[in-house]
Amino acid sequence: MIIPKKRFGQNFLKDESILNKIIESMPKGDNIVVEIGPGLGDLTKKLLERKKRVVAFEVDNDLCKYLKEKFSKEIESGNLILKCHDVLEGWEDTLIDKKYDLIANLPYYIATKIVLNSLKDPNCATLTVMVQKEVASKFCAKEGDKNFSSLSILANSVCKTKVLFDVDRSSFDPPPKVTSSVLQMIKKRDFIKDRGKEGIFDSLDEFEKFERFLKEAFKAPRKTLIKNLSQSYDKNRIESFFQKNDLPPTLRPHELPLSLYHLLFKNI
Ligand code: SAM
Repeated sequence: MIIPKKRFGQNFLKDESILNKIIESMPKGDNIVVEIGPGLGDLTKKLLERKKRVVAFEVDNDLCKYLKEKFSKEIESGNLILKCHDVLEGWEDTLIDKKYDLIANLPYYIATKIVLNSLKDPNCATLTVMVQKEVASKFCAKEGDKNFSSLSILANSVCKTKVLFDVDRSSFDPPPKVTSSVLQMIKKRDFIKDRGKEGIFDSLDEFEKFERFLKEAFKAPRKTLIKNLSQSYDKNRIESFFQKNDLPPTLRPHELPLSLYHLLFKNI
């Protein structure tokens, strides 16, 4: 018998109708599917039934043993590749060497990190993932929304983002403490120019500077953007950018449109 392990964020999705809803919302096409945390394999089974080729990463050795038996035929035929280790180990640039769609009920303790890695991974084409409702709404918030944050800017810079539906705690065994949401992100471009045809930044170094810049911008979300940024950047340049673009000096971080964030970053 498998006893769920809290330290690995094991909340198994048991609601058949939700599993089907996730499968129905998968993007069309022939990309390989990456599943992070197959758990007891309920979602994996449905993906394989849909004739998807799946690469699954599972950190828990007990679950890996269970999955190897459950999917012995699929593993033998090559339709399922099961990798039994921490997905974050060795995920430097790309997770696998082919284009892939990420479809998963993510372990919540590392969900934000996994989504950020996938956004940067040039081989990840789309994400359809279950995360905490709060995290989903942060990633998918649009400019002007109260929870528009550095995560929203990063995600919406490269993807079309959408919260697809919420999932109640009762759909899981054991139930998590919070409500969950399935979010979808479809990449429209890459962050880094030299990796794809189109990209926002010239180098990884520049992109990492943008991440640090956003951290500063949202350091105190209720304070003005000028106040937050002028602690680390030249105040005169920020103020002249605001004047040039007719922006009120009282603007809070969540109120600046996404395209202006890119422009402001390049200007200071
Ligand atoms: N997909 C299954 C489901 O929907 O029922 C399980 C989802 S459960 C929320 C998260 C899964 O991620 C667990 O199977 C857990 O062992 C696995 N996991 C946790 N941390 C991981 C990591 N660092 N790398 C790979 N898998 C991980």
